[in-house]
Amino acid sequence: MSLFPETMPRPEPNMDDAGFWEACSNRRLAFQSCNDCHTLRHPPTPVCPKCRSTHVHWQEAPEIGEIFSFTRIHHASHPAVSDQLPYIVAIVTFPELPGIRFISNVTETDSIHIGMQVRLWWDDIGDGVYIPRFKAI
Ligand SMILES: [Zn+2]
Repeated sequence: MSLFPETMPRPEPNMDDAGFWEACSNRRLAFQSCNDCHTLRHPPTPVCPKCRSTHVHWQEAPEIGEIFSFTRIHHASHPAVSDQLPYIVAIVTFPELPGIRFISNVTETDSIHIGMQVRLWWDDIGDGVYIPRFKAI
């Protein structure tokens, strides 16, 4: 069962983030890495912000991340989330991937804190689309 109901808007991949969503469809969390200066970046962009290179590959993330920051959402910004309140939105970092700050949800925890380790899980929203989310270890 998905975290949010079917009325939740679905990802609409574009030419910049299609590689990200393609990796997600294979249940792989991957971020752009510049082939020339090795800078990692997210969200995906067509040009490296550091060296302007357009050459890129996708670097897979580990399953374990760390809470950099978080907030507990108590107000529904979309009708689809109104039955799920409160829920947690967090910025997750990966010590192995400097510079990556990934916004996601953290589930299955009542006691979240900065620095806490979390494990990646895949939210199956149907039709081969998987959303990366995290839960407490
Ligand atoms: Zn670069």
